[in-house]
Amino acid sequence: MNSTASRQRCTGESYQSLQALLVAGEDACRIPAALPAQAELEAAIALRVAKMGGLSKHPWGIEKLVPRADQLNVDLLNEPYVVSYWAEMLLPRLVDDVCDVRDAISGVGGLRYRSSSSAVRLFRPGMVGSVLLKGFDPRWWERIARRIYEREPRTAVFVESDWSRRERAAGRASRESSVMDPAIASALLRRVRATCGLGEANGTDVWCSAIGHETFWTLEATDGPACSELAPLLTDGPTGLGWRVNTFNCLCEQGRDGCSVNMTAWDESVSVRYLNLRWGRLTITDQTRASIAEMNRMAFR
Ligand SMILES: [Zn+2]
Repeated sequence: MNSTASRQRCTGESYQSLQALLVAGEDACRIPAALPAQAELEAAIALRVAKMGGLSKHPWGIEKLVPRADQLNVDLLNEPYVVSYWAEMLLPRLVDDVCDVRDAISGVGGLRYRSSSSAVRLFRPGMVGSVLLKGFDPRWWERIARRIYEREPRTAVFVESDWSRRERAAGRASRESSVMDPAIASALLRRVRATCGLGEANGTDVWCSAIGHETFWTLEATDGPACSELAPLLTDGPTGLGWRVNTFNCLCEQGRDGCSVNMTAWDESVSVRYLNLRWGRLTITDQTRASIAEMNRMAFR
């Protein structure tokens, strides 16, 4: 196996591009960690797009990731339904009549975008860090954002140049009350392609729950790789995070039922569980293709 194979598995980067990094004297085997503000942006994005489901084997529609400390490039599947899903999940809108100020924003609070001819850059005004979406025609994003604005002109704060007052309040309240470490979600996003299984379709989800100061993360795949292949990518392999495996409830060898691997992240109070539901080998059927065609049609309506 070549020295960059683990990173390729996690990010989808090509062998050639990683060799070019090696030639330039950079570390092409490990995956760089995001700086704190970058990790915060990535965590907010990851937790929003994670509910995409399994309409392709590409988790969250991501074909490739190029990670740097202060930026993440994300190549999305070149399909309008994927771009539409990302825009709908991420672009912030105000939500009325909420009891808790943290719920006053749908999408990612403070998120703004700029399109160029080849990419859409996501960022938060006044904050370091950006996520560059590529792999599709940026005019699709513009068209979809315009559609969202026309549908909800009063609440669509993403057209404002700076954070709106309610976005600031929601962001401040969330930060003060959250015990969630954004570095975990960022690390998982930067390795999310590790959950691709052998089938044509696979759903990947990530969520976090908290009890007191302990947090419990779950990385779930419907048809993911064997536990013994995935665990080293997060623990002690070349792309590993130094996390530790606690329990290994694996039935991959028997080829039946779901499996789980329970890990401890950097801190004893943070658990991460890989849950492979093992829904059998999933394929894209004529019905799935029809659903995708319909969603692509709806993306621009
Ligand atoms: Zn297993």
